[in-house]
Parts: sequence; C-alpha cells; structure tokens
Amino acid sequence: MIKRCVYCRTEILAESVVDVCDECGLGVWGEKMFSTIKENMQGARDRGDLHQGSVTG
Ligand SMILES: [Zn+2]
Repeated sequence: MIKRCVYCRTEILAESVVDVCDECGLGVWGEKMFSTIKENMQGARDRGDLHQGSVTG
C-alpha cells in the first residue's frame, strides 16, 4: 500500500508515522516540532495505541 504526503502528494514510506513527507513536515512544523511529532507518533505506535488489532509483526 502506497502512502502519500497530504500536502504535495509525493510518495512516502508506508511505515512512516506521519502522513507528510519530510520536506513538508519541516516546512509546516519546523525541524524541532516535526521531530517531536514523529517521536510521539512512533511512541504511540510502539505502545499499540495506533493500528489496534493489526496483525503485522
Ligand atoms: Zn510533501
């Protein structure tokens, strides 16, 4: 399944925790905020808060 950036529609990694590419993420949130958001999203996914019931892994 291909995921696309919600801003520029460029393809992004399916395992990406955010729905934007790095370029747009940086443009929208700035480097520090963007990395904080990604860390938070990654943490949530690692805890299973997202994709509950997923059989992956
Ligand atoms: Zn983009």
